[in-house]
Amino acid sequence: MTKKRVFANIFDFATNWSTRLQPAEAEVLQRILDIRVVDARVVQGQELSDRYNICPDQEIVTISNRVFLEQVFYNKQRHLKPQNFKSDNDDGLDDPTVGKGCDFCDPQTWTASETWGRYENEYAVSASNLFKYCSRHGLVILKSHDPFKFSHEQFRGMLDCAGTWFERTALEAESSPSADGLVSHPLLIWNTLHRAGASQWHPHMQTMLQGVPFPTQEKIDAMVMRYAFHPGAPSFYRDLTLVHAAASLVREIRVGDQVAYLFPSLCLYKDMEVQVLGQALLCPAFTRALHLGLRALIEELGSRTYNVGILNLSLGGGGGGGGGGDGIGIGALGWTAMGQNAQTSSMSSVTTSPPNIRLTTATTASTGAGQGAPAWLLGRPVLARIFNRGKVSVKSADMAGLEVMGGSSTGHCDPYDVVQAIDDTVDRLFTSTEATIRVLTPDNL
Ligand SMILES: [Zn+2]
Repeated sequence: MTKKRVFANIFDFATNWSTRLQPAEAEVLQRILDIRVVDARVVQGQELSDRYNICPDQEIVTISNRVFLEQVFYNKQRHLKPQNFKSDNDDGLDDPTVGKGCDFCDPQTWTASETWGRYENEYAVSASNLFKYCSRHGLVILKSHDPFKFSHEQFRGMLDCAGTWFERTALEAESSPSADGLVSHPLLIWNTLHRAGASQWHPHMQTMLQGVPFPTQEKIDAMVMRYAFHPGAPSFYRDLTLVHAAASLVREIRVGDQVAYLFPSLCLYKDMEVQVLGQALLCPAFTRALHLGLRALIEELGSRTYNVGILNLSLGGGGGGGGGGDGIGIGALGWTAMGQNAQTSSMSSVTTSPPNIRLTTATTASTGAGQGAPAWLLGRPVLARIFNRGKVSVKSADMAGLEVMGGSSTGHCDPYDVVQAIDDTVDRLFTSTEATIRVLTPDNL
């Protein structure tokens, strides 16, 4: 994928953004991010210095997201940190179901169903979680056992199943309310392998609906609303995309007249974070973009344990933030998912063709340039976040007091290496004409 590399790495970006970005872009960046390059110094005895060969003068890049209230530290010297809790197993990838059988390979027997039943398509089937977090807690189980091999069609099948679970669970709750009241607050997550919190090897997403907002969602919504009080009432998600486009990190995925934006986060919450913004859960550009991000982490960066979270999901029409006409609402509890309907959910909207993407660069793209941000991006777009959760071969946790108590994290993989992995995945996987991918520049917004 041909592109101009404006910044070599996150250290280059943190040092030079103020002189290389246009003034208007820099102004937007400062509304969202606080970026500092700071020095730290250590004094070492000779034995310590000889053992670890650590530079006594260390450069640390600190990036804070003023809206998400998150922070990341980059320090090249941390790659030399000793790791004392390695597993005896070389790769930590022993499938525990081998020789014992897998519950999720036989979901009709070994998983529960919802009181409204199950939804099933060619690639996935829904279930009710036997060990619930909240009053409505379901599962979406892929009809394939390997957590690392899934096509776009399989992935989209899981999202179709999740959308229908939300739809039918909400409809049922409306007619038979519980003490949880109107369960209008959704969350969709996917944990892969034990380090990411999964209890089963087999790929499965978790769907939740409850009567109060999930705290992270409520925090983000409140801060985005506060962001709009800046002079000129700016749109946070448009500005977030613009800042990452100015950093040359955004890839626009277009399928027909639908677009989605995929980018490694400058202020990642966990390592290798990739974010995807789209109009709706089943918008074809959104599902393509999210699948592309996952394949890049798995195939290019070697991730074997990750979390996916999909936020800003809405029950009721208009969840796409004013995109206009693409979501199908079903009254007060409609599920805004492209091409879906509560009464007739099926796989009819899911393409079964092979990956079908054509690459362009911004200079050769035939559509989109100069058209400005899509309307949905100015509202509350669907937001997906992917986090790598460390190495399965390492026993120590990748989340410690820093993350749990401080709300800060450490960056290992450089965002510019992540975007290179995305571009390499595009070059390797996608070669035809149904969709286009290009580098998004700020003037396209
Ligand atoms: Zn299985």
